[in-house]
Amino acid sequence: MKYGTLILHNGNEIEPHTGALSIPIYQASTFHQHDIDHPGKYEYSRSGNPTREALERTLAALENGTRGFAFASGMAATSSALAILKQGDHVIAPEDLYGGSYRILTRFFTEFGIETTFVDMTQLDNVREAIRSNTKAIFLETPSNPLLKITDIAGVVAIAKEHNLITMIDNTFMSPYYQRPLDLGVDIVIHSATKFLGGHSDVIGGAVITKSEALAAKIYFVQNGFGAVLGPQDCWLVHRGIKTLRARMEFQQQAALKIAAWLKEQSWVTDVYYPGLPEHPGYEVQQRQASGFGAVLSFKTDTVERALQIMKRVQLWSVAVSLGGVESILSYPAKMSHASIPKPERERLGITDNLIRLSVGLEEPDDLIDDLKR
Ligand SMILES: *Cc1c(COP(=O)(O)O)cnc(C)c1O
Repeated sequence: MKYGTLILHNGNEIEPHTGALSIPIYQASTFHQHDIDHPGKYEYSRSGNPTREALERTLAALENGTRGFAFASGMAATSSALAILKQGDHVIAPEDLYGGSYRILTRFFTEFGIETTFVDMTQLDNVREAIRSNTKAIFLETPSNPLLKITDIAGVVAIAKEHNLITMIDNTFMSPYYQRPLDLGVDIVIHSATKFLGGHSDVIGGAVITKSEALAAKIYFVQNGFGAVLGPQDCWLVHRGIKTLRARMEFQQQAALKIAAWLKEQSWVTDVYYPGLPEHPGYEVQQRQASGFGAVLSFKTDTVERALQIMKRVQLWSVAVSLGGVESILSYPAKMSHASIPKPERERLGITDNLIRLSVGLEEPDDLIDDLKR
């Protein structure tokens, strides 16, 4: 079966009792047990819920993993995955990590004795050099946010395997439609389902998918124990969103390519960051490890003043945090997604005050370009 078909037909699309072509929202906290010596499949919705299960199985199928887990947000997913580590462990992460992930690693997990070294992961030597005797995991995010830097996934996996380290990747930007890291040897895939999986800017959710049963058992222990589960209504929304993943990704990527090419020609644009442009330094690696480039790009304007004006004047583009929805969003990393990174550190990373990030939606690309032009 081809992937486009798998998105719709993975065994989780028909409700077994009625034949309904949508798994209902099982809005129940608990389940009657007919025989307490032989409890049913579902007991209590923190431990398991049929709507959540349909979504989780779909996620596992799409990432080619053994098990999927739905969490209350992308950050709940990331935090729960990191929670399989223990005091004294050391993590290596990319220096231009998603702001929220940077925040929990530097200000939350440190309180529990878990330390992180941040490196420029586009150079594999940096990863190798950061390994210590207590290093336990390597956390990847590629393309990175907001500068769309590309990390060689298989290259990092090879280093991790040499040193017996767990690899975790935030696969939010590509979605499983364009990039399936478990097939490249990664151990744990994480998503903010709020973005491309949900796709409609109407739900906050997260996902973790594992390859091995051993790691699945650890993640389930955290999911059930910590309890940051996604509710049935939100599971249903994400599950429905996934049905159109392919159509959205394909269209939005085409539009992103068009907008990136247009931006490149503008005299007031100094840099365009999009891995779908052949001059992007990560273009080759991206071609090798993913089947697309996604619908997020960023660019720098000649002056900070112009960046601020664009955000004031756009009419079609929403000015907001988040990405991956059907509506196009323009965001300002310095004051939004990356505000939690101290300014000097931000500037060093290239997240300057003239940087704008775009998430391209389903509008007519020409209208989106006209809006920017204005
Ligand atoms: C949005 C986002 C997150 C956090 O997800 P939430 O659903 O907002 O908690 C993590 N990583 C990336 C790359 C994101 O874009």
